[in-house]
Amino acid sequence: MIVVMEPGASDEQIQATVRRVEELGLKANVIVGTQRTVVAAIGEKREHFKESLESGDGVSAVVPIVAPYKMASREVKPEPTQVKVLDFVAGAGSVGYVAGPCSVENEEQILSTARAVKAAGATGLRGGAFKPRTSPYSFQGLKEDGLKMLAAARDETNLAVFTEVMSTEDVDLVAKYADVLQIGARNMQNYRLLEAVGASGKPVLLKRGASSTMDEFLLAAEYILNEGNDQVMLCERGIRTFEGHTRFTLPLASVTYLHRKTHLPVIIDPSHGTGHTYMVPDMAVAACAAGADGIIVEVHPDPSKAMSDGYQSLTFDGFAKTMTRCKAVVDALRAIDQEDLV
Ligand code: PEP
Ligand code: MN
Repeated sequence: MIVVMEPGASDEQIQATVRRVEELGLKANVIVGTQRTVVAAIGEKREHFKESLESGDGVSAVVPIVAPYKMASREVKPEPTQVKVLDFVAGAGSVGYVAGPCSVENEEQILSTARAVKAAGATGLRGGAFKPRTSPYSFQGLKEDGLKMLAAARDETNLAVFTEVMSTEDVDLVAKYADVLQIGARNMQNYRLLEAVGASGKPVLLKRGASSTMDEFLLAAEYILNEGNDQVMLCERGIRTFEGHTRFTLPLASVTYLHRKTHLPVIIDPSHGTGHTYMVPDMAVAACAAGADGIIVEVHPDPSKAMSDGYQSLTFDGFAKTMTRCKAVVDALRAIDQEDLV
């Protein structure tokens, strides 16, 4: 249920509502919006709860939350969420541009990439230090050494560092160096890990599982939000279909769907979504045209020598040209009154 407070409800009235919700054995989450404050009351509800809450001071209405996910839904928070860390801003009209190699390989590689993508307009730096590889014999990442290299690149450029955390035991270590914790597609339903990154208080980029439905994706986000962490971004990175011409199938309609259902920023990954370098620029631009709140793109100084995912990585020059096109699209759309569309 959502307890909608009257406009201008006092802090005392909000706190009294929170206490009442907790007395009923429900979890209370206060969401302060521009128009109104709501208290999301989450848990198993009983017949008399609605009436009991409605009679509270400063309460305007008590309405059920229809979506299976609660904190993630637009019903609870109509205003878009913005995630802001260092140079990176995504959501509520801002587009975040994250770029970097699939894996951190050495200091020179990550530093030169950070400088190049920053010069091209990126606001975040990606790079895996803990790599989820299909084969145990493939490069598994530089682990803490890689994290240190990412942190050094961040310190020089002010780019927000995005890097994957694969297991609960590593959350503290990765959080020590990263600005945004990435949950990989393979771990989207690792619920203990979701709780742990939620509790870390760091912004999180949650990638969609390759075979997950939208409801499963949003319920995974709910695990993070439920820990009191509202800095969650959803990343569409492609799903597994019968198609073989791309590594995954990239549904850009996810942007529009998710914007309707959730207030969380939506980031598109055209690199994993297509699996082919030549497709990445067009899909990055198309993501921006679809209204994505950001893109995350693999970029490598020499893709032919990359230790992972070189076949879907852009060169520095390819990324710079892609950024020029993305920014042109974003600027063109901003200049038009979006309200005319529907
Ligand atoms: C990655 O971003 O390098 C990665 C492994 O992505 P995903 O989890 O989407 O496969
Ligand atoms: Mn990759």
